[in-house]
Amino acid sequence: MNEDESSDVPTQSDFIRERVQSDLSSGKYKQIVTRFPPEPNGYLHIGHALSICLNFGIAEEVNGICNLRFDDTNPAKEELEFINSIEEDVRWLGFDWHGQTKYASDNFHQFFEWAEHLIKKGLAYVDDLTADEIREYRGTLTEAGRDSPYRTRSIEENLQIFHDMRDGKFSEGDRVLRAKIDMSSGNINLRDPVIYRILTAGHPRTGNTWCVYPTYDFAHGQTDAIEGVTHSLCTLEFADHRPLYEWFLEALPVPAKPKQYEFAKLQISHTVLSKRNLTRLVTEKHVRGWDDPRLATISGLRRRGVPAEAIRDFVTRVSVSKNEGEVELALLEHCIRDNLNYNAERRLAVLRPLKVVIENFPEDKTEWLEAVNNPNSSKQELRKIPFSKEIWIEKDDFMEEPPNKFFRLAPGKEVRLRYAFFITCNDLIKDKGGNLVELRCSYDPETRGGNAPDGRKVKGTIHWVSVQHAKDAEVRIYNSFYNSPTPGRDRDFIDDINPSSLEVLTNCKIEPDLVTLNETTPIQFERLGYFYKDLDSGPDLPVYNRTISLRDTWNKKP
Ligand code: ATP
Ligand code: MG
Repeated sequence: MNEDESSDVPTQSDFIRERVQSDLSSGKYKQIVTRFPPEPNGYLHIGHALSICLNFGIAEEVNGICNLRFDDTNPAKEELEFINSIEEDVRWLGFDWHGQTKYASDNFHQFFEWAEHLIKKGLAYVDDLTADEIREYRGTLTEAGRDSPYRTRSIEENLQIFHDMRDGKFSEGDRVLRAKIDMSSGNINLRDPVIYRILTAGHPRTGNTWCVYPTYDFAHGQTDAIEGVTHSLCTLEFADHRPLYEWFLEALPVPAKPKQYEFAKLQISHTVLSKRNLTRLVTEKHVRGWDDPRLATISGLRRRGVPAEAIRDFVTRVSVSKNEGEVELALLEHCIRDNLNYNAERRLAVLRPLKVVIENFPEDKTEWLEAVNNPNSSKQELRKIPFSKEIWIEKDDFMEEPPNKFFRLAPGKEVRLRYAFFITCNDLIKDKGGNLVELRCSYDPETRGGNAPDGRKVKGTIHWVSVQHAKDAEVRIYNSFYNSPTPGRDRDFIDDINPSSLEVLTNCKIEPDLVTLNETTPIQFERLGYFYKDLDSGPDLPVYNRTISLRDTWNKKP
């Protein structure tokens, strides 16, 4: 195994996998059950990919089960569009869940019964305090909370009012059901947390059946228990909720006792990941939608042309940790380039065209040259590319007054056309305004394929396409979406958005063979970067997203 291969297959080990292994070898569990539990209130981002690869990955590695479960306890914010996109994203990342998609709402009846169970055990009560009063009574980190005056209600009265809540006899905010734990606990989550509240918005799945809904805390662990989850993996902000998670499992007749483990959220430099902020970008129209290729949403990355495999590779390299820390965006970019370097088909395209007329090339002739499709593929496929009297080259590859180290085209200078011939620039044609419109060159027919029989060398190689054969295309170049490596650190993150994050080039010329490629083939436009066909492509005008630039060193190669 060479170095490259070994770094592609990192050994997967982390504190969660170690725990899973020891629970299996001690016989504590025969089969491991995990779940990925998104709240359907937005599209998934690359942080979620870490959680997906962790939960589904572990289940795969140890022959276990991983559920996809929507945490749909908050009807006001949930939408079908999000549910569909989440399912699509999980599948695209290469995973499939056990059985049918699960929903916390599948268990609403059970949760209601368990709430009654707590009331009957004297472990829950209906509170008439307002939300503000509840907050005030809760105390602070340094100050104990106070008991609500309604804390001592009788079991009968509590049951009666809880049923009245369910039957729609109150309005939102009038009453809540709280667990009766400890108002002086050092852990604020244990100061009689709200477990049921009145919400009158219809629910996407249960419609108007309910007007009382369990809170996340009351639903999550119990759903884990119902599903037989063994390792309930969540992010660090839930560590303080763990005692509550365990309190419910102790107090209720649940069928299993799952364990919660916390890991640090993935954070990436130059990137914003929280759903709340992504929602803002979309609703305030700073981007074109959830799948805008500038976003680190799974659908944005997919649309941009980032392969699922590169995302899996990235999260594997990052691994899960118990400590918060930021990962460099450069690591993600490295994984993308690594993958595309192996898999992308090489083609020629000119993004900012400048016409070159080859004066000594016959008028109506087309010469077909051979080009390599992908030097890294074992197939070693070649294709034919047409060369004719007029070609497009990149504007940047010509300079009228070049500095010393400019090895591309300039007056009187010779350059190699990739896969074709050497050409020498003889003349410049300018319009009345003095703008360059065309170059006149001559070619050396002896240099077909790129070498001179007399052994003379040229330093520069540039790309080109034949004018007569080229197709038009639009190309979208994505620059950094934020101007700051830590968007939002010192001000509203919206103010850190780079106003020139999208550059649209509408007059690009691509080699004809591109129309024959499958839509989902990753492409390298030689010398320009990796590209991917966008959904906006029409039959006559393909649109390409630049997934990522090439390594910066490419231009230095002869
Ligand atoms: P956000 O903070 O972006 O709003 P969330 O935690 O509210 O995310 P959920 O839909 O509740 O989003 O998350 C589903 C799962 O993904 C949870 O287990 C959550 O802990 C995990 N997750 C969310 N963000 C990240 C992240 N940045 N890194 C790793 N896991 C994450
Ligand atoms: Mg959440």
